[in-house]
Amino acid sequence: MKFKRLEIQGFKSFIDRSVLEFRDGITAIVGPNGCGKSNISDAIRWVMGEQRAKDLRGASMADVIFGGTQRKAPAQYAEVKLKLESDNFAYPYSEFTEVEIVRRLSTKGVSEYRINGAQCRLRDIRNLFLDSGVGTRAMSIIEQGKIHQIVTSKSEDRRGVIEEAAGINKFKESKKEALGK
Ligand code: ATP
Ligand code: MG
Repeated sequence: MKFKRLEIQGFKSFIDRSVLEFRDGITAIVGPNGCGKSNISDAIRWVMGEQRAKDLRGASMADVIFGGTQRKAPAQYAEVKLKLESDNFAYPYSEFTEVEIVRRLSTKGVSEYRINGAQCRLRDIRNLFLDSGVGTRAMSIIEQGKIHQIVTSKSEDRRGVIEEAAGINKFKESKKEALGK
């Protein structure tokens, strides 16, 4: 699975609509401290279904919405769109080679999720990434401090990391569902 295009609006420091096109090969984001580099990876994790505010470096989920500056008023909502490319999207998207996911959160606390323009549940978005190697907990995203955390974590937590990387979480989710848990 490849990221093709990221569009951010009202998310953290990105008040205006900002677009990042991922070309073939490696994309590197460089810039001075505090310019918003980590906010871009937060936006990617958020649109992929991250629910832990702490992992997005905030106290509550509303902290992802642009909070305003001296010159700019706070945003009413945060919206992130991510276009993905793959030749083996999970069912029911298997016939697509491109899928666009959208997540939106308003200051009123209303959450919206869309896949290819159609409203969906958070779970549908998360399902797209199960077994793809790029889940929110997958090792494809390594934040500042993460390596230290893995090295010093408890063995069960480290096992979780390996299980995600090996792609067996999909089966754990189905088992949980089948057992009605
Ligand atoms: P470093 O090189 O130090 O890691 P960085 O480029 O990764 O820096 P980020 O952490 O992405 O920087 O961005 C931090 C900036 O984002 C800060 O200036 C912070 O005020 C701003 N910011 C974070 N959340 C919000 C928000 N909800 N509203 C407005 N600005 C925000
Ligand atoms: Mg950073």
